Amino acid sequence: MTNPINSYNLIPYIGKYAHFGEVYEGIQGKLDCDYWVLASNETKAREHFTQVPSMLQCFEEWFGPYPFYEDGYKLVESPHLGMEHQSAVAYGNQYLNGYLGTDLSGTGHGLKWDFIIIHESGHEWFGNSITTADIADMWVHEGFTNYSETIFTQCQQGEEAGNDYVVGCRKNIRNDIPIIGPYGVNQEGSGDMYPKSASMLHTIRHIVGDSVFKGDAIGDEQGFYHSTVTSADVETFSACSASAISAKCSINICAPPRSRPRMGGVQEEALRPAGRTAWTAWRRR
Ligand SMILES: [Zn+2]
Repeated sequence: MTNPINSYNLIPYIGKYAHFGEVYEGIQGKLDCDYWVLASNETKAREHFTQVPSMLQCFEEWFGPYPFYEDGYKLVESPHLGMEHQSAVAYGNQYLNGYLGTDLSGTGHGLKWDFIIIHESGHEWFGNSITTADIADMWVHEGFTNYSETIFTQCQQGEEAGNDYVVGCRKNIRNDIPIIGPYGVNQEGSGDMYPKSASMLHTIRHIVGDSVFKGDAIGDEQGFYHSTVTSADVETFSACSASAISAKCSINICAPPRSRPRMGGVQEEALRPAGRTAWTAWRRR
C-alpha cells in the first residue's frame, strides 16, 4: 500500500485462492485489477467479474478518477457478504446479481448487476478516499455510495431505470430517527442514511442538472481527496460550489437549516421558481 488507509478498512485475507487479473485503461492511465477467488469458483468469477470495467468507467465519469491507482483495484472472496476494504473489496455475494439475489429497489433493475461489486466499489470514492471523522456522519459514506447504485443503473440501463431504482429504494426509508447520530460517542444515526440520503442527492441533482451535479460530486471527491471530513465540511463545500455554478441557472441550492439530515421526519421537496429558491425539507412526524 502506498496510500494512507483508515484502520477499519484493514483486513487480512487467508484462503486457497486462485488469481486472475486485467489492466483497466482509466482516465489516469493503467489501473491493475486483481481478483482473488476460491479456486473452486474461478470459472464463475471470470464470467461474473466482467462487471468491473463498466463500473469503473461509470464511476470515473461521475465521481472522478479512481482514488487509489498506485495500489490497484482488487476483489477478494470472503466468507461474509462484503465490505469496502480500501483497494481490496471483500466479495461474498455468491456470484449472484442483486443483493444475494434480491433487488433492494423492488424494480428489477437491481438484478442486472452485482450489489457488492457496485456498492462496495463506490465506497472507494466515498468512505475510503473521503472518510468522516465521526461515524455519526456516516451518511457521507453511505448516502453517496447508495446513490452510486442509481448512477450505475443509469449508466447500464438508461436514465429512466436509474430514476426508477432510487424511487424504488424509498420504500426502505423508515423516518425513525435523525440520519446524523450524536457526536463523540461512536454512534451511527438512522439506517435511513442509505436510501434517504440517496434520495436527497437525487433531488439536488435534478434541481441543478447533471453537469452541475457531476462537477459537484467530482469536486467533493477531489476537494477532499484522501482526507478526513465532517458532514458540515461536505454540506458547506457542496452548497457553495453548487450555488456558485447554479447562480447561472438562477437557483439557490443553499438549504435552509431545517432541511439538514440532522432531523428525522418526512422528506418534502419543493421548488419555488418565483422566489428562485429550491430546497429539500425534512419535516418531523
Ligand atoms: Zn456501504
